[in-house]
Amino acid sequence: MSRSPAEPTTSAPSTASTASTTGGASRAARLDHVRQHMAARGVDALLLSHGADLPWLTGYRAMPLERLTVLVVPRDGDAVLVVPGLEAARVPGGSASFTLRPWTETEDPVAIAVDLLGPRTATLGISDRAWATSLLAFQKRLPQTRWVAASTVTSPLRAIKDADEIIQLRAAAQAADRVAAELQAGEIPLVGRTEAEVSEDISTRLIAQGHRRVNFAIVGSGPNGASPHHEAGSRRIGRGDVVVCDFGGEYDNGTDVGYCSDITRTVVTGEPEAMVTDCYRVLLAAQQAAVACVGPGTAAEEVDAVARRVIDDGGFGEYFIHRTGHGIGIEEHEDPYLVAGNRTPLATGHVFSVEPGIYFPGRFGMRLEDIVVVGDDGPDPLNTVDHSLVVVDA
Ligand code: ZN
Ligand code: ZN
Ligand code: ZN
Repeated sequence: MSRSPAEPTTSAPSTASTASTTGGASRAARLDHVRQHMAARGVDALLLSHGADLPWLTGYRAMPLERLTVLVVPRDGDAVLVVPGLEAARVPGGSASFTLRPWTETEDPVAIAVDLLGPRTATLGISDRAWATSLLAFQKRLPQTRWVAASTVTSPLRAIKDADEIIQLRAAAQAADRVAAELQAGEIPLVGRTEAEVSEDISTRLIAQGHRRVNFAIVGSGPNGASPHHEAGSRRIGRGDVVVCDFGGEYDNGTDVGYCSDITRTVVTGEPEAMVTDCYRVLLAAQQAAVACVGPGTAAEEVDAVARRVIDDGGFGEYFIHRTGHGIGIEEHEDPYLVAGNRTPLATGHVFSVEPGIYFPGRFGMRLEDIVVVGDDGPDPLNTVDHSLVVVDA
C-alpha cells in the first residue's frame, strides 16, 4: 500500500539545491493516495486543521488561531480549504488539488465545513492536533458520526518520504552536521560556560547554517547528561565533563513547509576516564549495529532490539531508558517509532532517528543520534559528522 519515492533515495547529490520542488502535482498525488487509504479504512471525509497533514497536502501551515482553518477532504468530492478571510492571502497558490473558501468574521465556519462534507458523514477523521473546541463544535452538528484520528489514514503515508522530502531532510541534516563539526572542533567553547550559554551558541549557529527555527538545543553536562531531555541550565561546564549536545530545528527552504533536523553528539572536555571510554565504545557499537540493520522489510522494533542487545551485552542495559528512535519530517517526532511492539516493516523512504543512549544517574550520560533514510538496499545515514567521543579542549 505504500508508495515508493520516484527515485532511489541514495541518488540525491550532497550539494542538491534545497529549494523545494514540491508543487501542485506532487501534492495532488499525495491527496489521491490519501483518498485511496480513506476508502480502505472506511473514512468518508477528513477534516484537517492544525498539525502537519495540512502543510503536507497544501503547502500551507495554519496559524494557531482560535479561528477555524480546516481542509475538508471528502473521499469522493473536491477538497476545500476553509480559511479565515484575513489569512487567505497566505495560502500558496499554484495547486489544482483544492479550492479556497475564505470565511468572513460573521460567518459560521463549522456550518460551512459541514456543508462541504456532502452526504456521507458516517465516519470522519479529524486532525490529531485540531482544537478540542473544533471537534466539539463538529460533534454537536453531527451527533451520529463516528470520529477517528486523521493520523490513522495520513500518518503511515506521511512517514514515507518522496524524493523531494529526502532532499529537504538531507539539507537540514547537513546544516546540523556543520554545527556539530564546529562543536567537535572546539569552536563552541565549553569549559567555564554555562549550559544555557552553550545552548544559545548552538542555536545561533543552527540559524546561521540555514535553519529558520530552533526546536531545541539540549546541553547536558556532567550529571545533568543523565537526564535525556535535560533543559540547558546554569551549571558551569568543567574540565573532564561528559557533555551531551542534542539539537535540531526547521530548515529554511524558502517555503512555508520546512523539514527538521535532529542530531546528538556527546563530547568530553578533557581526557575521559576509562569508564566513560568503555561506555562510549558500547554506545557507538550499538548505534552502528542499529543503523546497519536498517533496510526494507526490517521491523521497526528490530532496530530498537539490535541497539538494546549490544548495550545489554556490554553490561549497561538497565541504563538505556528510552526507545531507539522516531520518524522525522515536517514534525520533529512522527511515525515510525523504533520501539518494542512496533512491528511495522520498514520501507524505502522511511526516515527516522537512531539514537541509543546510556545514562548513569548522578554521574553522566551519553547519546549518539543520526537521521537515517531507508534506501532500497539498506541504510542511507544523513548525518555523517564524526561519531567518536571527541575531546574538546576549549
Ligand atoms: Zn498506499
Ligand atoms: Zn535529538
Ligand atoms: Zn531525536
